[in-house]
Amino acid sequence: NPSQPRYKRILLKLSGEALVGEHEFGIDPKVLDRMSLEIGALVGIGVQVGLVIGGGNLFRGAALHAAGMDRVTGDHMGMLATVMNGLAMRDSLERSNIRTRVLSAIPMTGVVDHYDRRRAIRDLKDGDVVVFCAGTGNPFFTTDSAACLRGIEIEADIVLKATKVDGVYSDDPVKNPNALRYDRLTYDEVLDQKLGVMDLTAICLCRDHDMPLRVFDMNKPGVLTRIVVGENEGTLIAK
Ligand code: UDP
Repeated sequence: NPSQPRYKRILLKLSGEALVGEHEFGIDPKVLDRMSLEIGALVGIGVQVGLVIGGGNLFRGAALHAAGMDRVTGDHMGMLATVMNGLAMRDSLERSNIRTRVLSAIPMTGVVDHYDRRRAIRDLKDGDVVVFCAGTGNPFFTTDSAACLRGIEIEADIVLKATKVDGVYSDDPVKNPNALRYDRLTYDEVLDQKLGVMDLTAICLCRDHDMPLRVFDMNKPGVLTRIVVGENEGTLIAK
């Protein structure tokens, strides 16, 4: 059966930037609704979907720090930004009748539930989409690291990183037309060649726990479904 999913449980990383759409800042509801449809299609074929959402469309600690703010305060703001994105994502998913749970690494009673691994797995098994927000809960980390961490914790089959380009290139494909796209890379190739797919912490976590990673272009319609049924989209990073 070609639509039989190859992965039972995935961890999808969406950057905050992906949510901006045609705007300069903030959240474009049209983009959220399109993503909800793509995610709903996965749920429809029985895939358990965990989601880690970034916050770069609103605040990034490093950028705030560069402008003079205390770094830890900036990172706290960045993590809170991911909670706002998580709420917007849930709103969109639920309007598409996809049951969604938002779990935050930072407790925020009355707004979202506090992250609890066993609960997350229970909700995933019940068919809910689980949105993990507030990153790892710690400053100096990124939501890419949070995605790998949560992916490993919930025993996802793969971490899928949505980007604006269709995989990992030898150079910036926007600036260099001769840049080559890799089909497959090992963790050590990514680290040695400083390919800048994700930060080192994220790549090392995946390497140490043997968590495969696929980098792909979220703007291609139907891409998520093609990936979960085993088609070759973007770049696979594995052992
Ligand atoms: N952040 C953090 N700890 C984490 C995850 C995120 O302090 O575990 C902060 C950090 O300031 C980061 C911001 O939240 O810049 C937004 O996350 P990120 O930059 O990873 O978002 P993305 O680039 O995916 O939109």
